Amino acid sequence: MGQRKRRSVTGLAAPSRELPANATRRSPAKPPARQSAEEGRPASLTDSVLRLIWKEKAISRADIARVTGLSRSTVSEIVTYLLATGLVDEAGEGESSGGRPPIVLEFRDEACVILGVDMGATHVSVVLTDLRGAVLAWESASLPVRQDPEGTRQLIDDLCTRCLARWGGSSTQLLGLGFAVPCPVDPRHQERLSTHVLPAWKGRHGFESLGQRWNVPVLVDNDANLGALADQWWGEGRRFNDFTYIKVATGVGAGHMVSGRIAAGASGVAGEIGHLTIDLSGDTCDCGNRGCLQTFVGARAVVNRVRRLLPEYPDSVLHRSELTITTWEDAVLADDPLAVQVTRDIAEYLGIAVAGVLNLMNPGAVIIGGGIARLGERLLVPLRETVLRRTFVSSLATCEIMTSALGPRAIALGAATLVLDAALKDPSLFPGVKPR
Ligand SMILES: [Zn+2]
Repeated sequence: MGQRKRRSVTGLAAPSRELPANATRRSPAKPPARQSAEEGRPASLTDSVLRLIWKEKAISRADIARVTGLSRSTVSEIVTYLLATGLVDEAGEGESSGGRPPIVLEFRDEACVILGVDMGATHVSVVLTDLRGAVLAWESASLPVRQDPEGTRQLIDDLCTRCLARWGGSSTQLLGLGFAVPCPVDPRHQERLSTHVLPAWKGRHGFESLGQRWNVPVLVDNDANLGALADQWWGEGRRFNDFTYIKVATGVGAGHMVSGRIAAGASGVAGEIGHLTIDLSGDTCDCGNRGCLQTFVGARAVVNRVRRLLPEYPDSVLHRSELTITTWEDAVLADDPLAVQVTRDIAEYLGIAVAGVLNLMNPGAVIIGGGIARLGERLLVPLRETVLRRTFVSSLATCEIMTSALGPRAIALGAATLVLDAALKDPSLFPGVKPR
């Protein structure tokens, strides 16, 4: 198959590229389309069939027809098209229900790979995943991201290149680049960054050049939103239609999943929970206000609190190591009395914010992510106590408060999931699938 134009999600000049090395070289026929009554524009049936095969992992043509209500001939036509893209394969015969055994169709998780980038305040992490969220390679490095946009872009380029090299496959199989950034992202203007949170970046992330390097689309969203997305696809969030994910790291942010979708707000600022005022006369926050939640539970605040209390705890293990957020977490896990006291303090402040979320959003779950999630029940027990004192019993009774189980790769995984989600909604983003 020759070169083709790709649609770009960020509005870049649409690059062209070839099929992945292992994709079938037959040219796929144009997929069947129907008119969507609600939106008055053509909507492809291919999308829903592809998503169904992805979800079921293995399914027969007859079952696709049964589940979707489509005629067998339409299903057959769509499947022929999808087989030619290399995203779907025939995996052999299934169980017979009397007649000829059906051919089982399988989604090829390894057909493409995705790069997910987590750009934190002080680090960059990159994962390379397959189409089922399995991490094939992972790279991470520290850097003053806020102050050094050029160095950060270079580091992201290096880490992405290293991930692709460690995986060893062809970069023509790359589906796209997803980015998690530590500031609100307006869904209508993903190319912009907040000048308020990241002034040195002058309002633009400049990741387009990375997309152009590999001829793939670039998608960007806020890090807490992508933590929520990762949990919705791969974590405990799968059990809930409505939940709030709170990322506690250098900054503090929330992603609200409402009826299965991220609630970004009118301009992408929903979930900026870190700037909820806890104390009118508290310390000055990065945002310029006083006493924001972040000034109590953000990494810098935690380390400062530990430092202030150290003289009162002469036996603390924290006298023996360099004081960082990680050594504090380690000390909590070792039940060090000073570290545990600071956990209780944090749980009190975080609990005020969580109670507010419960009263405001009534989520089915609150999932705490970021490095602090390592603390598990040591954080959750005092947190639940605070929330219980500060909220309506009915909203707490129907809400599970838990830590995310996805670990330090969660945000980068969410960034990769952003691309997977977009491609399953619009298969023309997959290499080898013709735009409609
Ligand atoms: Zn603030």
